[in-house]
Amino acid sequence: MAFTYKGKRVLVTGGAGFLGSHLCERLLKEGAEVLCVDNYFTGRRAHIAHLIDNPLFEAMRHDITFPLFVEVDAIFNLACPASPVHYQFDPVQTTKVSVHGAINMLGLAKRLRCRILQASTSEVYGDPTVHPQTEDYWGNVNPIGPRACYDEGKRCAETLFFDYRRQHGLPIKVIRIFNTYGPRMHPNDGRVVSNFIVQALRGEAITMYGDGRQTRSFCYVDDLIDGMVRLMATDESVTGPINVGNPAEFSMLELAEAVVRLTGSRSEIVHKPLPQDDPRQRQPDITLARRTLGWEPTIALEEGLKRTIAYFQATL
Ligand code: NAD
Ligand code: UDP
Ligand code: UDP
Repeated sequence: MAFTYKGKRVLVTGGAGFLGSHLCERLLKEGAEVLCVDNYFTGRRAHIAHLIDNPLFEAMRHDITFPLFVEVDAIFNLACPASPVHYQFDPVQTTKVSVHGAINMLGLAKRLRCRILQASTSEVYGDPTVHPQTEDYWGNVNPIGPRACYDEGKRCAETLFFDYRRQHGLPIKVIRIFNTYGPRMHPNDGRVVSNFIVQALRGEAITMYGDGRQTRSFCYVDDLIDGMVRLMATDESVTGPINVGNPAEFSMLELAEAVVRLTGSRSEIVHKPLPQDDPRQRQPDITLARRTLGWEPTIALEEGLKRTIAYFQATL
């Protein structure tokens, strides 16, 4: 059976984060009652402050590595630091959030017999040897490197989701999110879009890691949230994993050029060493999302950057 949001109680873990706060907003617009659970490690109360007066919204401080007993109709599991700077700050905790967090949320879903969606990541593909990445590619992850706490944690979470499906018949959904950007990105969490914009606006040097020819595909946050909301509403037979991202691929040099142009900055590019295990290229194959969700991105990089730059201009 498909799912409609109106009148449903929906739990969003990591709801005060970048993606989570946009998701809470969107779910309220769909007529859902939203329970936002967050320990504010990388999230901020300011991201959800404008929702607090809404009688359909409730925020709860809680760390999902501990059990949670609430009554809801659906669970979006987003809690996990997402940028390398943050997830490498306390790598053991990062694995715990993904693994213990998933077990607790799956245990909750099992008791409630409700649907649950996991925010997985393109990082499960590691440094991919297949390009663009399709969902049936198993990935190329270094299990002992500095990114492993995040990549392997997310891979194990996917394993748990599919085992709860096989063992307990849970209605699960796994979305593999590719690099997403937009308002409410952390100004200093080290991700490339926020770094370049903040540096350009402050007239500081643009830090290019390596030669800048490595590529990424950047999805604007509203597009991503739309894909996520559609996936949760699909028939129970649809589990994913399903890639959601923008297939338009850019090198970091092209990104820097666009940011400098759109901000009118005079910042210059300085090269820094490429971090260990930094994937060379990444681009989603979104054939499955097009077919299953009727979804594709609608906001091009140029437009998304303009909106993101406006946000940073207003908040810096
Ligand atoms: P974010 O860091 O802004 O949000 C994560 C949220 O989870 C924060 O509010 C944080 O405080 C909260 N959190 C962390 N540990 C927690 C815990 N133990 N208990 C409760 N809350 C906890 O990151 P984001 O970009 O919004 O990412 C959200 C999700 O999407 C993450 O699971 C991430 O792995 C996934 N994702 C994001 C991207 C992206 O480009 N932004 C790409 C792929 C996957
Ligand atoms: N759990 C939870 N909320 C619930 C139900 C379970 O946080 O409403 C946690 C519970 O603490 C357990 C985990 O989810 O550690 C996994 O639950 P499951 O029922 O799968 O396993 P079991 O309790 O049998 O170990
Ligand atoms: N990057 C960069 N300068 C920065 C931050 C990042 O050149 O100031 C590069 C980074 O090495 C990577 C790409 O930009 O090749 C995307 O980095 P990000 O951390 O945003 O995402 P991820 O590597 O997780 O895809």
